Formats: sequence, C-alpha cells, structure tokens
Amino acid sequence: MTATIYDNPDHELLRDQVARFIAREVEPFAAAWEETGMVPRDVLRRMGQAGLLGIAFEGEHGGGDADALTNLVFAEALSQSTFAGFIITVLVHTDMAGPHLHHAGTPAQKAKYLPKVTAGELITAVGISEPGAGSDVAGMRTTARRDGDDWVINGTKMFITNGVHGDLYFVAAKTGTARHDMSMFIVEKGTPGFTVGRALKKTGWLCSDTAELVFDQVRIPAGNLLGEEGKGFYSVMKNFQTERIALGAMAIGHCTQALKITLDHVRQRQAFGATLWDQQTIRQRLSMLDAKVRAARQFMYHCAWSVTQGHDIVQEVSMLKALTGELVNEVVQTCQQFHGGMGFIRETAIERLWRDARVLAIGGGATEVMLEEVAKRY
Ligand SMILES: Cc1cc2nc3c(=O)[nH]c(=O)nc-3n(C[C@H](O)[C@H](O)[C@H](O)COP(=O)(O)OP(=O)(O)OC[C@H]3O[C@@H](n4cnc5c(N)ncnc54)[C@H](O)[C@@H]3O)c2cc1C
Repeated sequence: MTATIYDNPDHELLRDQVARFIAREVEPFAAAWEETGMVPRDVLRRMGQAGLLGIAFEGEHGGGDADALTNLVFAEALSQSTFAGFIITVLVHTDMAGPHLHHAGTPAQKAKYLPKVTAGELITAVGISEPGAGSDVAGMRTTARRDGDDWVINGTKMFITNGVHGDLYFVAAKTGTARHDMSMFIVEKGTPGFTVGRALKKTGWLCSDTAELVFDQVRIPAGNLLGEEGKGFYSVMKNFQTERIALGAMAIGHCTQALKITLDHVRQRQAFGATLWDQQTIRQRLSMLDAKVRAARQFMYHCAWSVTQGHDIVQEVSMLKALTGELVNEVVQTCQQFHGGMGFIRETAIERLWRDARVLAIGGGATEVMLEEVAKRY
C-alpha cells in the first residue's frame, strides 16, 4: 500500500496487528463460515480481547480512544480480508451500530453496554431500513409510543446486518407525526415481542447474517431511549459519516486485493505464447485501475483527516461513498474478466470479491442518493 501523509508509526503497528489476526483467524476458516452464514462468536470475542472491537470508543469502557484516521486505518486493514461477510460483520459492530451508543448513550447506558460491546460479548446491529423505506429514511413506518414508564415499539425492519445472531439492537422509530420526528432505542435480544422474522439469503457477504426484524408490541423501559427524543433522524445522519468512510475503506480494500490477486494471475497465465501481462491492453487497464484506486484512497484519508479537524464534510463523504462504491465494481469486474473461466468459479477469491462488491454501490446509501447529497450542497 502506498503511504499517505497522514500515516504514523502507530498506524503501521495497527495494520500489522490486524493483518496477523486476519491471516491467523480468518482467511483459513472463512470459506466454511460462508456455508454456515455467520462468523463464529468466539472469533469476535478474540478480536475483542485483542482490543480490536472498539478502538474509537472511550478508554474507560474498554475502547481505544482512537481518532477518525486511526479508525480508518483499522477499517482498511480489516478490509484486506477477501471475505467481505467477515468484514461487514465487524464493521457494522464497530462503525455502524456501535457508534450510536458511543455518540448518544448516557453514562449509565455506556457503563452497562460498552464494555461488553468492546469485548465482543455483545454483538450489535442497527435497524433503520424497512421493507418500504431504505434510501428514504424519513419514510419509515415503525413507531414507538410512550406508555407510562415504557416505550412500545411496533414495526418491521429489513436487511439488518448481524440481525440474526446479534445481541443488542439500536432501532429507529417514529415518535411523532412530523416527517423527521424519530428516535433511537436500545432493544436487547430476547425482549418479548421482538423476533427475527427471517434470515435473508444473499448474493454475497455470505458469512454475514442479515435479517428481517419484527417488533410486535415490544415494551422497553424509558431508559432505553438512545439520545434525544425526536432527534433520531439527525443522529442517524451523523452516524452515516462514520459508516460511509468505513464502507469506502471496504471498497478500497477489495480493490487493493483484487488488483494484487489479478497482477499475480496475469503475470503467470500463458495464452498465445506469452503471459497475459504481455498483452498491452491488459497491463494498461490494470495500471489505470490502480491509478484510480490510489487517487480514491488518498481522498478517503483526506476525508478522515477532515473529521479529526472537526470539519463538516457531508458532501465529501457522500462523494467518497459514491466514488468508491462504483470504482470497486469496475475494478472487480475487470479483474474477474482477466481470470477467464476461473473468475466464475466459486472457489476463487476474485469470484467472491465480485459478488461481495455489488452491494457497496447500494447499501449504506445508494450511489444516486449519495450524488443527490453532493449536488444539494453546491
Ligand atoms: C446486505 C445488506 C445489508 C444491509 N444492512 C443494513 C443494516 O444493517 N441496517 C440497516 O438499517 N439497513 C441495512 N441495509 C439496507 C441498505 O442500507 C438499503 O438497502 C439501502 O439504503 C437502499 O435502500 P432500499 O434497498 O430500500 O432501496 P430503495 O430506497 O428502494 O432504492 C432502490 C434504488 O433506487 C435508486 N434511488 C433511490 N433513491 C433515489 C433518488 N433519490 N434518486 C435516484 N435514484 C434513487 C437507487 O439506485 C437505489 O438503489 C442493508 C442492505 C443490504 C442489501
């Protein structure tokens, strides 16, 4: 990987630590996890014990107090795995669900849950999307009604990562009639009325579990309101910044791996009396893709640095999500093409990367929606 001006020696140590964990605990076993549709919980606990499940959360609750740049280094290092189902299982926990508690939790909520979240004893999920509302977050139908000392939640959530095997859910629900009047709630697995409707079968991310969640008169204590009542829409939007940088890291990680695998392949594969690398069109296309990936990667680090400076970068992060979500699909499809028939065979990493990359242009903000976020800020 090329250096960035934001690198420091601690980043290198973190990259090494994550790389060693992936080589030892993930790559040899994850093909079997793809069959069972989940990442074993003991692997996540070992990540927690190694201090890798909450590096951006408070030190007093077991986290690492890391800034956005260090957090990006972690996400990018994790994304060197060729199993995106593993990567997303972790990144939802650390960068998409967990931050809701980290940013909006009360001291009591954090003391109760964060140590177990950072230790990997409680795996988290975030429930925003619904069967009838994904891109249009404010169009959700799930409601939470105050009843004495409780809130009562009714509705259905869709496509929820870690939804089947998660323990702790951060759930968005309408708490008023105005379009943006929604709040976030903490719902524990096992709360009466809260069920996993079905585990969804997917094209890719096979070792990540994805669920439909059903809330039928789910009664939770008033103390499980997460953040300010009626302000949930804004915390969802705020958390999207962390989430979209992590998804950018995932896309860049896939690009890096796909190019590496493909360079190795085309240098040794013989056709027409020479290697594929000897074909000018192949080496030029790979060179151009690498140029695009390196440029996008520098922009990604710049975005994370801007977060550390406290800048409002909704426009840049939306650009990053759109750019990397499309780029990764261009890269993996071209790399798959240069693998010929083997690129279509299930046992190859390039075939998996090709399937896994598709959703990066859809989930966490589809490309078109991201470009609208960019355009409205000119
Ligand atoms: C594997 C997977 C895991 C997921 N994990 C989670 C999770 O953990 N938690 C969670 O809450 N959600 C999760 N999601 C949901 C994901 O964020 C949504 O699928 C995504 O936001 C798109 O919403 P939608 O599927 O309802 O598509 P829709 O909103 O119906 O949009 C369909 C398509 O229409 C186009 N489109 C939409 N709006 C516009 C527009 N304004 N202008 C132009 N074109 C537009 C886009 O091409 C878009 O892809 C996950 C999804 C998947 C597939």
